[in-house]
Amino acid sequence: MTAAPSIVRTSTAELYDAHVLKNYARPALTLVRGRGAQVWDDAGRDYLDFTSGIAVSALGHCHPHWVAAMQRQAAELIHTSNLFRHPNQGELARRLVGYAGPGRVFFCNSGAEANEALIKLARLHGVKKSGEEGKCYKIICAKNAFHGRTYGGMSATPQEKIQKGFRPLVPGFAFGELNNLESFASQIDDQTTAIFFETIQGESGINPATPEFLRGIRELCNKHNLLLMLDEVQCGIGRTGRFYAFEHAGITPDAIGMAKGLGGGMPIGAMWVHERHGELFQPGYHGTTFGGTPLACAAGLAVLDVIEREGLLEQVRKNSGPWIAALQKVAAEFPQHATGVRGVGYLLGVQLTSDPAPYLAALREAGLLAVGAGGNVVRLLPPLNVTPAELARSVEIVRSVFAAKTA
Ligand SMILES: *Cc1c(COP(=O)(O)O)cnc(C)c1O
Repeated sequence: MTAAPSIVRTSTAELYDAHVLKNYARPALTLVRGRGAQVWDDAGRDYLDFTSGIAVSALGHCHPHWVAAMQRQAAELIHTSNLFRHPNQGELARRLVGYAGPGRVFFCNSGAEANEALIKLARLHGVKKSGEEGKCYKIICAKNAFHGRTYGGMSATPQEKIQKGFRPLVPGFAFGELNNLESFASQIDDQTTAIFFETIQGESGINPATPEFLRGIRELCNKHNLLLMLDEVQCGIGRTGRFYAFEHAGITPDAIGMAKGLGGGMPIGAMWVHERHGELFQPGYHGTTFGGTPLACAAGLAVLDVIEREGLLEQVRKNSGPWIAALQKVAAEFPQHATGVRGVGYLLGVQLTSDPAPYLAALREAGLLAVGAGGNVVRLLPPLNVTPAELARSVEIVRSVFAAKTA
């Protein structure tokens, strides 16, 4: 016998306390509605949302073009599985190849899944390179990286707080120092198949790979026949003012992992593989039930439409400069709280002098939602279509919080 549905109205907080897995430490905030860069909580209070759901809501909340595309597609065809073709997946692949270069795209549902596909690509490259399975599988990643919570992603993420409790991990990962070419070069051997890192480290506190480092790694990979695989899950899809963050360095990787901003809120991830490695995956080598549904791909297409029609890459490049300069000025006014601002475009980290948690709470109280990151950093990730007035307001809120904590 099944229980009768409860008619008792329980608060969202109570429901979470009673029934949701306790794997997140959340603030006491329940969001119910969003529009552009604004969200509202269940008490009707509004906030400037500079989390964008962790760099996901690239067009802000409920952009009319995105909403219309989703409504249309939801009424047309939502899911087919990958047993069959549908127009949206082909079209989204074409559009992504337009940004990344000649190659092929595999669709999945998240950043971690995109990275799993990259790791499997690296293994296949190693088999091709050595002519044998299990001989060439080492992937050199970066210290302080974050690549997701699956076994492959976690194994590529050399952080105690991520790995603790879950060992043994997947073998075959080595780690160099980001922006130290020699620390990567010195670890290359016959077993090495790929180099894999975030173009800009996000979770560990906004640490960009320099253009010189990226160019140096590209040369190393060419010399040793290694795949250069970049995790653009957080820094890609326009966040830095270029579609991919590596474009700032003028290089082309062999493979790219992307997700977050790609669906503008719908779960979608993707791996792009350069044409020269496009045949490594053969029928049956990899798969996913949900990856690249008509609905998820419609979301991706709507995001690209708006980025292109509204000139969002140019807007990010144009508006981020004054915003970063204003934040740097605030940091300089309050050296007891902040020592600087790092990042590119709308992927910023304010370097604090202590734990970001009380600052995040104070910012929230003052009406600004931001994200913490490793190394005492507050991340600011506005939507790509944020207005200059909203950017200016965020600076005032940061200033007010520093001032209140100083008084
Ligand atoms: C968020 C993130 C991931 C993991 O993506 P999920 O969608 O949470 O699985 C991987 N790499 C980077 C750089 C990320 O920022």
